[in-house]
Amino acid sequence: MVNAVFCRDRGHDCDFAVQTDNDDELVHHVQDHAERIHDVELSRADVEDLITEAEA
Ligand SMILES: [Zn+2]
Repeated sequence: MVNAVFCRDRGHDCDFAVQTDNDDELVHHVQDHAERIHDVELSRADVEDLITEAEA
């Protein structure tokens, strides 16, 4: 199963999205993006709240 996170789901005007079947990787990429681009620190739970299922 492939999961996706869309940055705009946090309310940002941003086209960043991550799509992978590896949740650890997903969380890492989203945390990295949020910190560098939006100066926001996200916990793993914060990221998990944003995960949606995507078509493989
Ligand atoms: Zn973003």
